[in-house]
Amino acid sequence: MTNEYQIRVVPEVAVQEDRLRSWLADEYGFDVRTICGVRILKRSIDARQRQIYVNLKVRVYINELPHDDEYVRTEYPNVEGRPQVIVVGAGPGGLFAALRLIELGLRPIVLERGKDVHERKKDLANITKTQKVDAESNYCFGEGGAGAYSDGKLYTRSKKRGNIEKILNVFCQHGASTAILADAHPHIGTDRLPKVIEAMRNTIINSGGEVHFQTKVVRLLYNNQYPITNNREPITNNRVVGVAAEETVNGYCLTVNGNCLTVTEKEFFGPVILATGHSARDVYRYLAEAKIEMEAKGIAVGVRLEHPSHLIDQIQYHSKQGRGRYLPAAEYAMVTQVDGRGVYSFCMCPGGFVIPAATDKEQIVVNGMSPANRGTAWSNSGMVVEVRPEDLDLITNNQYPITVNPALRVMAFQEELEKLCWQQGNMKQTAPAQRMADFVNGRLSYDLPKSSYAPGLISSPLHFWLPKMISKRLQEGFKVFGRQAHGFLTNEAVMIAVETRTSSPVRIVRDHETLQHIRVEGLFPCGEGAGYAGGIVSAGVDGERCAEAAAAYLQQLR
Ligand SMILES: Cc1cc2nc3c(=O)[nH]c(=O)nc-3n(C[C@H](O)[C@H](O)[C@H](O)COP(=O)(O)OP(=O)(O)OC[C@H]3O[C@@H](n4cnc5c(N)ncnc54)[C@H](O)[C@@H]3O)c2cc1C
Repeated sequence: MTNEYQIRVVPEVAVQEDRLRSWLADEYGFDVRTICGVRILKRSIDARQRQIYVNLKVRVYINELPHDDEYVRTEYPNVEGRPQVIVVGAGPGGLFAALRLIELGLRPIVLERGKDVHERKKDLANITKTQKVDAESNYCFGEGGAGAYSDGKLYTRSKKRGNIEKILNVFCQHGASTAILADAHPHIGTDRLPKVIEAMRNTIINSGGEVHFQTKVVRLLYNNQYPITNNREPITNNRVVGVAAEETVNGYCLTVNGNCLTVTEKEFFGPVILATGHSARDVYRYLAEAKIEMEAKGIAVGVRLEHPSHLIDQIQYHSKQGRGRYLPAAEYAMVTQVDGRGVYSFCMCPGGFVIPAATDKEQIVVNGMSPANRGTAWSNSGMVVEVRPEDLDLITNNQYPITVNPALRVMAFQEELEKLCWQQGNMKQTAPAQRMADFVNGRLSYDLPKSSYAPGLISSPLHFWLPKMISKRLQEGFKVFGRQAHGFLTNEAVMIAVETRTSSPVRIVRDHETLQHIRVEGLFPCGEGAGYAGGIVSAGVDGERCAEAAAAYLQQLR
């Protein structure tokens, strides 16, 4: 017999199965020896009161062993010889698109500019060692995309529950802990993600798909160049039939006169799912030159704010003892409005690190990640201010010029601010930083607290050089957060500049129904870079939708 219960228990009962079994036996009048298993189906922490509780939905197996699967498996058929679809980018959008294509009987050819998830790790370590960023292999580029060396938080504001559960189940099938199916705020952890991503790649290859690393797509191919489908006459550049990509030699980029010399240019044919993420600025530039319609999109800009994790635990769990033995590092979410714009915490990483997430030389960009145990001494979050395209005139007094294409205007602002930050950071990856209370009071910090940011910090008056529209609102926002959470506004916390890559600054406009670009057939802008997703799960969901749309497109061509 199995019974399901919705229960509320103290943390020490929630995390110890023998205590949970005893608690259930007492509560529901069973003989504890008849309980053969307990499966946690949902878990959330209620930290509103001094006494913390854990809400659980549990399935109890009485006089029978658990026999049902912990997650729903997806079958991946062999797709060798099937029609192919080009997937550009191996981030969550591209990987989930590729897996869904296989499910639908199509052969994905995945092209990724960066290295595989393990090779990539060396380039990440090199950022701290050399203070330089490899423009093709970094925290945003490479297998797994921006999602690989991240916190791996898997919650999303998206409401499409069924799709979200599918994504979580696919992660479990590829090695993620099934706890992600139960937790209200699931996360995988940066130390566990690479293995999961590698397993996804193996599924693609073992099913007959292809994955090419260090293969950067540089051009789209059109029907008037390459008529590929049945007897339709090529007319104009209105149908994409493939891509041209550059492969680097043996994994190395030969530098000649300051340029990266790549030896081969290869062409790949098929409809194109373009899942290149929000940091592929060369892709946006190329699309602008090719007159592919795009529009500027709002983003959020600010800093990473890092507190000692014990302080956040004390505040959130209302106890001087912090989280104790049975609770995870505490999370928070803050939001307010200042002068008509949102000021909020973003991508909070309890027990994590602040990391250098730039994608090119002469930039500083920060972001955050955590290992699975969220066990470091720091907790950080992006603290950002909403920036709309129309705000740029006010922010900059035309300091940030309208580029060739107005669609790239917000991106140009991002770039300028990242460059300014790099200049403030001594033209290295040492990031400009200021203690939180000093910032609010407009004072330079004469020293800085210890931080998880490995390339190092340099004291800098962020209140002075960040655009006023952002610094003023952050100052006001911090005062509000300090009133809401006693102890939050403190000089023990450090602000690290600059957080700009919160979402895509560009939307590659697509048709609502077919998910193709509004003018160009066969081109499916996908995931975060297209401006239609934000975060790992929503990029994954969008990847699946784009795969379905590409399948429908191929069907209609036949
Ligand atoms: C440090 C960090 C932590 C994060 N933490 C979280 C988190 O905890 N939870 C969460 O939900 N989100 C998190 N995010 C955001 C999340 O990673 C992104 O929303 C998500 O990865 C977007 O997926 P995507 O596939 O659309 O794009 P991306 O993940 O950006 O992938 C795009 C891929 O395309 C490749 N590419 C780009 N240009 C080309 C080209 N010309 N040719 C071939 N390949 C190309 C890139 O190398 C990259 O691998 C984090 C991001 C960062 C940087």
